[in-house]
Amino acid sequence: MTMSSRGSCADDDASDSKPADMPPAPVDIPRIERAVREILIAVGENPAREGLLKTPNRVARSFAELMAGLHDDPKRHLTTVFHERYDEVVLLRDIEFHSLCEHHLLPFTGRAHVAYLPDGKVVGLSKLARLVEGYARRPQVQERLTTQIADALMEELNPIGAACVIEAVHTCMTIRGAKKHGSIMVTSALRGIFKENPSSRSEILTLMYSEKNGKV
Ligand code: ZN
Repeated sequence: MTMSSRGSCADDDASDSKPADMPPAPVDIPRIERAVREILIAVGENPAREGLLKTPNRVARSFAELMAGLHDDPKRHLTTVFHERYDEVVLLRDIEFHSLCEHHLLPFTGRAHVAYLPDGKVVGLSKLARLVEGYARRPQVQERLTTQIADALMEELNPIGAACVIEAVHTCMTIRGAKKHGSIMVTSALRGIFKENPSSRSEILTLMYSEKNGKV
């Protein structure tokens, strides 16, 4: 009797559920399939063996999900605003995201903390999470992801200040190359009062880091 080579992720076929949050990007599926077959041949594998038969299609469809934000303008999530006389910090902490390092096409995953000090314009909290998601789902570098989020808040909401801190683990660091297991990369982008005023800066960074257990 032969054991099935199908692992749990092999059940990820065309009938699987689409991500609920964002529709997959319109990618050239057959072209990715051809490229993946080429990679398998190039590394000395046999793309015709049973376990690999559907792999090019699975990879193509997973790329469509990972690139879901590539042709999107995440700033659109900030266009529905409420006009509130609220002059305290709005902070959404621990927004989980998954992105793809554009240098190695390997995942980097972590959490974003996003804050702004409104000047009359406020958005729903879920919009901050969608903003992060939209910029994460594309080939990225963490530094750019961080600044894009802070700059989008400044451009769309004209707040008194905006801040984004991202903590992430890069698999291109942890599973290959330097193999720095457990190392966490932290980036920050501070705008407006959070950049200019030292006490506002320390206040927002304290809020972002308080009660954190150091896990990404
Ligand atoms: Zn990388």
